Amino acid sequence: MQNPYQNAMAQLDKVSKIKNFGDEFIARLRQPDRDIRISIPVKMDDGSERIFEGYRVEYNNALGPYKGGIRYHPDTEINEVKALAFWMAIKCAVAGIPMGGGKGGITVDPKNLSKGELERLSRGWVKRLADILGPRKDVPAPDVNTTPEIMAWMVDEFEKITGDKTRATFTGKPIENGGSQGRGPATGLGGFYVFNSLRAQLGLPEQCKVAIQGFGNVGGNAARIFAENKHIVIAVSDSKSAIVKEDGLDLGQVEAHKKTTGGLKDFPGARNITNEELLELPCDLLVPAAFENVITNDNADKVKAKVVLELANGPITPEADEILFKKNIQVIPDVLANSGGVTVSYFEWDQNLKNETWSEKEVFDKLLPMMNDAAQNIFKRAEENKTHLRMGAFILALERIKEKML
Ligand code: NAD
Repeated sequence: MQNPYQNAMAQLDKVSKIKNFGDEFIARLRQPDRDIRISIPVKMDDGSERIFEGYRVEYNNALGPYKGGIRYHPDTEINEVKALAFWMAIKCAVAGIPMGGGKGGITVDPKNLSKGELERLSRGWVKRLADILGPRKDVPAPDVNTTPEIMAWMVDEFEKITGDKTRATFTGKPIENGGSQGRGPATGLGGFYVFNSLRAQLGLPEQCKVAIQGFGNVGGNAARIFAENKHIVIAVSDSKSAIVKEDGLDLGQVEAHKKTTGGLKDFPGARNITNEELLELPCDLLVPAAFENVITNDNADKVKAKVVLELANGPITPEADEILFKKNIQVIPDVLANSGGVTVSYFEWDQNLKNETWSEKEVFDKLLPMMNDAAQNIFKRAEENKTHLRMGAFILALERIKEKML
């Protein structure tokens, strides 16, 4: 299997065949502005010292400061971070926000650390990178396994080192530390707004049967929002198990079950299935909301959903994309589908710099038209260029980035 960065570059090659952006511009986008690897020494609770490997990739800042989350995962490595940073550049351009693309990470399984070790590790990441971060330079945020609390430690460390009191260097902070209302559900909600904007154009019914992989921040919120809007969530999963109930899951009860048992397995009235089976369920909408590369050459042919809404980053490989396209399964691409998160991150940054506090309603009221515009602009680009929505999104993003770079 290709690494995520090769997948990202394959997408770039593909779009440059559909529309001519000029070789020099494409060559610029084939490399990040810089990728930084750091080692972070951490004093462990037993008194020993461990060294962790960390990253920050600053991909492109034509549209504004580099923007992108920090991922803590044992499999995180530089190619994954580079791919995610590239997609952030595309995503910010698609969403129409004045931000560029960046991403960070640490190779670590945070479940194996105590809270104190996690805090020292997070502060260590900031110490190593403080010189390149800042509200007008590079603005990180949470991603897989990083939380508002971690952002609070990071923004505190950054303030200690630099004296910057705007708190605008990190987004996804807790409300009391300068976070924005609505950031928690923003990615799932933005995904729902995009889906809703395109639903009829993609030939989906008013009430859809939805299967969601991943029950974390994004997948959990998406499941709740789809159900609240009268769609039928038939399946959800986490890293350990997956469940399906064809006439719809009661998500409040699923959450309660997960809280008491620590997982989704054996939820009353539902069938236990595997994560692989979830991806192959007959449904209107399949929502991968966990990890990259889950729909590949091996299983794309077995996908039975009418439409796939990519809330995770990079869940479909380029080869699988082609298989789905041939099968007439439309994909609402990650750079559009999950751009609600970074859009509300941008709102948070904006509020911090202006010293304002917006209500959740104000935030969602601003998010909705931006998601609608992005969805419709992309639909139009895809139709005009006789291509699918992912390429429509890349075309829109590259037009915007190129215009700024020129
Ligand atoms: P999270 O850590 O809150 O949740 C991840 C979920 O995936 C968990 O339920 C976990 O149990 C599940 N999972 C882990 N391994 C799995 C596996 N092998 N199979 C099935 N499920 C598995 O992370 P998140 O913030 O919800 O992010 C999920 C995805 O959405 C990632 O791809 C992330 O990059 C993307 N994303 C997140 C945001 C955001 O605002 N958090 C924004 C844009 C994109």
